[in-house]
Amino acid sequence: KTAGPAMDAYWMPFTANRQFKKSPRLLTRADGMYFVDDKGRQVLDGIAGLWCVNAGHNRPRIVSAIQQQAAELDFAPPFQMGHPKAFELAERLAALTPAGLNKVFFTNSGSESVDTALKMAIAYHRVRGEGARTRLIGRERGYHGVNFGGISVGGMVANRKMFGTMLGGVDHIRHTHDPVRNSYSVGQPAHGAEFADDLERLVALHDASTIAAVIVEPVAGSTGVLIPPQGYLQRLREICDKHGILLIFDEVITGFGRTGHPFAAQTFGVTPDLMTVAKGLTNGCVPMGAVFAKQQIHDTFMNGPEHLIEFFHGYTYSAHPLACAAALGTLDTYAEEGLLTRAGEMQAYFAECLHSLKGEPHVIDVRNIGLVGGVELSPLPGEPAKRAFSIFLDCWEQGLLIRTTGDTIALSPPLIIERSHIDRIIDTLRAALRRAA
Ligand code: PMP
Repeated sequence: KTAGPAMDAYWMPFTANRQFKKSPRLLTRADGMYFVDDKGRQVLDGIAGLWCVNAGHNRPRIVSAIQQQAAELDFAPPFQMGHPKAFELAERLAALTPAGLNKVFFTNSGSESVDTALKMAIAYHRVRGEGARTRLIGRERGYHGVNFGGISVGGMVANRKMFGTMLGGVDHIRHTHDPVRNSYSVGQPAHGAEFADDLERLVALHDASTIAAVIVEPVAGSTGVLIPPQGYLQRLREICDKHGILLIFDEVITGFGRTGHPFAAQTFGVTPDLMTVAKGLTNGCVPMGAVFAKQQIHDTFMNGPEHLIEFFHGYTYSAHPLACAAALGTLDTYAEEGLLTRAGEMQAYFAECLHSLKGEPHVIDVRNIGLVGGVELSPLPGEPAKRAFSIFLDCWEQGLLIRTTGDTIALSPPLIIERSHIDRIIDTLRAALRRAA
């Protein structure tokens, strides 16, 4: 069945898909690096679906894990019960996370992981008798999903402006992107500490004893692939430690091999207190997210039954058997094919090709780390995001799926990518840039 009046009449895809409703692009199959559309065309996947299909599409281990699980145990209530794969998955994940960050809570998406982590941070302080620590600090241009917690700490004003009251007591530190000084062509600029010191401004304003947590994406993805300048995350860690503030990394995009290590925390050598993931956890096959916490945070909640009652939180589908099976199949695939370190191996070639776009029309900056890249374009005068979107459409016509975030083209291909695919992505993009008005 292809797009027709019925779909147009009944489906309500909201803003980001309005354009799609007018001219649907339908994906019907997928395999490895490719989607197949309803016209039978192969489309090279330059964005891993939506930053999630890290092992490539329809991988046999994952498919059969899901099939077997569906036939065996379809559901297990996550309250007062469990099932063996949930324990197995937690243990396997704990072996991959940064040292000490080895307790896991399961959710169903990145947005849920974020809201869970924010609630955990506030509850943690309260259980320890520091109930005044309720303030949360996000970052300008941060993206943390679409639930109320996520849009409150998120730095995309447009995403929250129509919903009135947000979470109270939320502030934002300045973002790290300085297009004048941050040309990433010669590696990360070294003024990260200066950006991070903005946190001290908020600490001075509010008093550290009122602040529960700071949340940032180690590399902001959905707002333009912003790689932090050197020393930035380290300095945030130092300031949080100094004031007893929890540091949360939102690794929904950067988790599971995107930057050359299992997690960006390891790539940057900074360990947060809480870490949110989703997407690559199940290779995008079944919805699942997770929050990782330090032992001490876990112990604070678990020591004493009254604490459990105070912190009521859990989803019907937490640690869903199908999701756990998919995640285990995904971890097997990552391990067997060395995918969690592959972005580091491919990084130099990817960077070289990506930066060759620097002299092309409209390109004002090129940024990358591991296998994620951003190509920032000058906007069409008075029409932000339009030029980038026209390039997205052109690439789609040429059989390449990319993503645009404002006027930045984002690339985040499956980690199984070969050099020939990188060549094709860059050639297609180059031609589209030259054609663009
Ligand atoms: N956090 C980050 C950093 C994300 O990039 C995203 C999704 N792109 C989310 C949270 C929200 O995830 P989901 O769409 O699964 O709710």
